[in-house]
Amino acid sequence: MREIFNFSAGPAMLPEEVLIRAQEELVDWQGTGMSIMEMSHRSKEFLQVSEQTEQLVRELLAVPTNYRVLFLAGGATSQFAMVPMNLLQDKQVAAYFNTGQWSKKALQEAQLYCQVEVIGTSHEVDGLQCLPDLEKFELPAQAAYVHYCANETIAGIEFPQAPELPGDLPLVTDMTSSLFSKPCDIAKHGLIYASAQKNFGHAGITLVIIREDLIGHALPNTPSLFNYQKEVEQHSMLNTPATYSWYFAGLMLQWIKQQGGVQAMDQQSRNKSQKIYQLIDQSDFYINKIHPQYRSRLNIPFTLHDPSLDKDFLQQAKQAGLVNLAGHRSVGGMRASMYVGMPEQGVTRLAEFMQDFEKRCA
Ligand SMILES: *Cc1c(COP(=O)(O)O)cnc(C)c1O
Repeated sequence: MREIFNFSAGPAMLPEEVLIRAQEELVDWQGTGMSIMEMSHRSKEFLQVSEQTEQLVRELLAVPTNYRVLFLAGGATSQFAMVPMNLLQDKQVAAYFNTGQWSKKALQEAQLYCQVEVIGTSHEVDGLQCLPDLEKFELPAQAAYVHYCANETIAGIEFPQAPELPGDLPLVTDMTSSLFSKPCDIAKHGLIYASAQKNFGHAGITLVIIREDLIGHALPNTPSLFNYQKEVEQHSMLNTPATYSWYFAGLMLQWIKQQGGVQAMDQQSRNKSQKIYQLIDQSDFYINKIHPQYRSRLNIPFTLHDPSLDKDFLQQAKQAGLVNLAGHRSVGGMRASMYVGMPEQGVTRLAEFMQDFEKRCA
């Protein structure tokens, strides 16, 4: 058992079993005498890996048959541009929820291609951060799609459910920090994207799940690599894909399946985050400013009542094997990210450390 627990927001901690399996297979993948890294992406061996990974995505998330699954490069950030390039069609407006730094980056990128209407923002109520009311937003006429970020990784704020949209207006969701951490009704969405390094692998590959009718309408000057239709036609192999990241995502998804699938991940995420939120709520020493209804299960930002203790907290945590607890550089304080690869034991150790630190320093 590893003794270091990494609370980084991403790239993030991965299950030890998965790393060991990758290590065992690194030099000689299944008796081929070759590493996955050395194999042609067009070889029958790699095609078996890539197809199996797609099957696991479909199975774990119960992806309906009228959706396509893509494994692309460029991270979630490339989707900030690909979405408007492919989904605007003949419209000039897109609607965005602006609830934190990631949705803001997404909408700023979309502004390169269209007019962005912000239909809801995060805001403070009685000193606590809240998300927009999903029953009360107004949609601009002529919006091509609605975009939101399901879990704002930096702020630590998470939508409890997806917004309901009228008619067949496509809902586009950045699920980079929450996909595979709970069940998801894919049919409510036109498009979902997530890069791997938070919940289901390491950096290099981005999963896109897209409804078929949204494919094939890219703007005329869209580069081929940014065109969903061309990627669908080439099975995500329009150029050489990130083969190792793709393979590794497959190992992670097998592991999630063995653990009991996304229902089990949801239960574990709730248990782990509850442990820390409870501790925060029972103390005046630790503070979290997100309304309980919108607290993220994956990223828990918190501050100490006396910020002059921050340095000691981080240093002593590190000595206890609890690393990367510093908050995002833009907000300071602390942040404990606990994606599906964070073992329960890591969270227990963090809770014990926080209680002990409080006793000694309060
Ligand atoms: C990390 C993150 C991103 C950025 O992902 P990249 O793969 O670095 O482009 C986007 N959105 C959310 C919600 C994230 O957590």
